[in-house]
Amino acid sequence: MLEASPPLKTKALVLFSGGQDSTVCLAWALQRYRLVETIGFDYGQRHHIELVCRMQILSRLAADFSWASGLGEDHIIDLRVLGQISETSLTSDMAIQMADNGLPNSFVPGRNLLFFTLAAALAYRRGITALIGGMCETDYSGYPDCRNDTIQSLAQSISLGMDRKYEILTPLMYLDKAATWRLGEELGGPDFTELVRQHSHSCYMGDRKQRFDWGYGCGACPACELRARGYAAWQNA
Ligand code: ZN
Repeated sequence: MLEASPPLKTKALVLFSGGQDSTVCLAWALQRYRLVETIGFDYGQRHHIELVCRMQILSRLAADFSWASGLGEDHIIDLRVLGQISETSLTSDMAIQMADNGLPNSFVPGRNLLFFTLAAALAYRRGITALIGGMCETDYSGYPDCRNDTIQSLAQSISLGMDRKYEILTPLMYLDKAATWRLGEELGGPDFTELVRQHSHSCYMGDRKQRFDWGYGCGACPACELRARGYAAWQNA
């Protein structure tokens, strides 16, 4: 479903967690780059199920969508050290709540800085300089490492530190969740929306038992609330 079919750029590496945002980013990248590799991080996340979901998404994309033919190698990086250096509700059995600094305690400090730096190091030896991620500062939970300023200054640091010009692209940066659902549908049609609903995972609690119209989840954690609200807004638009 390419619109005006601009010429494809060469290679990109997508930070792909198996969540809604990175799944839409992956479709975006596949329609713009000839070869798209993916990287995921195992950091002992409580919603470890997302690592299973991401494999299902990759195999479905390759099997069912002609525009996904550029899907290349997938890389999983063991980052369980994150759980040792940060006590957060994403890596241990704490309840998700707001902390004194106004951030939900699901925040793993500097997570995206680590993710992109590691992705750049992997990309370096694979001849890739375009890194793509689903960060969004519109209706994010206040995570400072999702801000465009953070991401773009990191791109500059990585370029300097690796002496190679890297780009970090964040196509969802200024979209709200309703717009992300809409973008997914524009990129891949209703079949792709169905893939996102059925297989992408956002719920912090790792719940894959309860099914809502927007997908699986507990329906109550901040990630489910955001996803549900965005889906409803998109449906009612
Ligand atoms: Zn949830």
